[in-house]
Amino acid sequence: MKAPQSCAIRSTCPYCGVGCGVLLSPDREGGLDVRGDKSHPANFGRLCSKGTALGETVSLDGRLLAPRVHGEETDWDSALDLVARRFSETIAAHGPDSVAFYVSGQLLTEDYYVANKLMKGFIGSANIDTNSRLCMASTVAGHKRAFGTDTVPGTYEDLDEADLIVLTGSNLAWCHPVLYQRILATRKKRPEQKLVVIDPRRTASCDLADLHLPVKPGSDVALFNGLLAEIARRGLIDATFATNVSGLEEAIASARADDLSVTGLSDDTLSEFYDLWCTTEKVVTIFSQGVNQSSSGTDKVNAITNCHLATGRIGRPGLGPFSVTGQPNAMGGREVGGLANMLACHLDIENVDHRKAVGDFWSAPVMPEQAGLKAVDMFRAVGEGRIKALWVLHTNPAVSMPDADKVREAIAGCEFVVVSDITGATDTARLAHVLLPATGWGEKSGTVTNSDRIISRQRIVLPAPGEARPDWWQLAEVGRLMGYGAAFDYESPAEIFREYAALSGIAGGFGKDFDISGLKDLTDAEYDALEPTRWPVSDGKQGGRFFADGRFFTPDGKGRMLPVSWKPPVAKLEPRYPFRLNTGRVRDQWHTMTRTARAPRLNAHLGEPFIEIHPDDAAAKGIGPTALVEITSPHGKAILRAMITDRIAPGEIFAPMHWTGENAPAARIDALVAPVIDPVSGQPESKASVAGIAPF
Ligand code: SF4
Repeated sequence: MKAPQSCAIRSTCPYCGVGCGVLLSPDREGGLDVRGDKSHPANFGRLCSKGTALGETVSLDGRLLAPRVHGEETDWDSALDLVARRFSETIAAHGPDSVAFYVSGQLLTEDYYVANKLMKGFIGSANIDTNSRLCMASTVAGHKRAFGTDTVPGTYEDLDEADLIVLTGSNLAWCHPVLYQRILATRKKRPEQKLVVIDPRRTASCDLADLHLPVKPGSDVALFNGLLAEIARRGLIDATFATNVSGLEEAIASARADDLSVTGLSDDTLSEFYDLWCTTEKVVTIFSQGVNQSSSGTDKVNAITNCHLATGRIGRPGLGPFSVTGQPNAMGGREVGGLANMLACHLDIENVDHRKAVGDFWSAPVMPEQAGLKAVDMFRAVGEGRIKALWVLHTNPAVSMPDADKVREAIAGCEFVVVSDITGATDTARLAHVLLPATGWGEKSGTVTNSDRIISRQRIVLPAPGEARPDWWQLAEVGRLMGYGAAFDYESPAEIFREYAALSGIAGGFGKDFDISGLKDLTDAEYDALEPTRWPVSDGKQGGRFFADGRFFTPDGKGRMLPVSWKPPVAKLEPRYPFRLNTGRVRDQWHTMTRTARAPRLNAHLGEPFIEIHPDDAAAKGIGPTALVEITSPHGKAILRAMITDRIAPGEIFAPMHWTGENAPAARIDALVAPVIDPVSGQPESKASVAGIAPF
């Protein structure tokens, strides 16, 4: 039964980084009526198919309702005592770096804050990493190199004002649908706004594009270097803005040296794109996983930012580089220090002053002096027995990590594994010694930050089922039981948020971008009623764009252009593995499907795992329409249904990453992905593995 909209509770969608506001009204059968929140600045009432179907995903089927130790139900005290004791014993015997947390962009900022504080300030290790490492770590590294901080310069309003939008490595139509709808709505009002899509596949985002550039996988650096060289050739360097930039000549020299033929694009196509970019002042370049998930992801980000810095196309309405994040709170995780190489509030672990300031604020007994293990290295350390106690929160690395079979084996062999989740039926949860039931979306309260730097509230609208408890509470209890006392004596997410906001004032004092100290004195009621708020929020700083004044967060205050050069994907094609394997999302599923697979209408979109193969390749291999195909790589194999389509180029194949050992044991595509990483960001190259195909 639909409740009147006036009774609805305002919250935020738990899926992608668009961060849409939703209005939630519980019905009388334990379900939810879900509508878009017209007052939320991220979506103005729009929702995509996943958001619209949220009400179908809140049943308690398959929910983990009580703590379990070795498969047996137990009470919270026994489970948490065991977790605290095993972590303390491991640290005492093997040191703080023998334990690790692997967390998630599904966590709320308050959960993330407590996990980060416990690991970095009290356990004394930086071995906390997040599945956001698989999502946008290359953007973080690229932003830090270019701007001095991990700063998203622009806002969603820039998409409305741009005259040219370039989507690169982003199937926005499927992966951030409401942003794509926003662009389409603008193009209806202003048909002169142009859309260019750069993607090896002809995705749904290309359907209404003015130009599609089907680049060879991994060639983005060469493409944007070609653009920078063209900018220089045409004399379009912004001489005034260039006084705010360092590295200009070196970057241009590198750009000129790159070979554009590696893009696989014709001279005419390149000219058309370069001409459009160079002759349009208001350009927003949106990038996502196709840029980030690469062994040269950081260089790709900098190749893009180089073009914007060279032309001063940054910090003003309707222009700038724009990273869109995959997860609902990937940004919050970046801000709060969820990555192994960051401190909270964009402060740096390696900086002794930053470490001391955070340590003093927390009254921390110990702070790590160097970065911890990033995701791929973390699970390698688990497999080698160097990590002996692991706590995984709200993510499923046994499916989603590259070389997933090996990661599953590593977790299975770990001495002590704790999993906090809403279900015990994931590939990872089944390997846990201790399972802790967590509250899920709709049952928990806190904040998330979207791609646009807007902090929004997730609010409670459903009762916590069974014994489920919030993640911040679980982490704080373990912190207390490990002897860290008052530092984890939290009563509510509001209290955690106030502490976090106060800490951000210290970051502001170091000249960092992330400062929400204007929110540090919120009362519980004000926190509860917090409107969507774009950071920074402090005295004299309020939302808006960064870098309008030409000042950056680097030591000399200048934006940095980086000399970058194209490098091929690390995995080499060979006769046994002649296909380039790309992985990604489909429109109506999310991550490893623990939530979206509950909604029949979402399963109806693409109901089973598949592999896209070009018709010529299918014919050459004797693979007919809908036939089963065996895909092999040096790391594993999978069996998927053939989808024969010329949306994919010859020599390339694409498979979605959602299906798991739980719902399709033969379709764990990340088992085939090489554990190759970007050397700067540590992000895996999930879009350019090698594989062979044959009829099954
Ligand atoms: Fe949710 Fe993203 Fe869809 Fe918005 S676009 S409704 S945040 S999945």
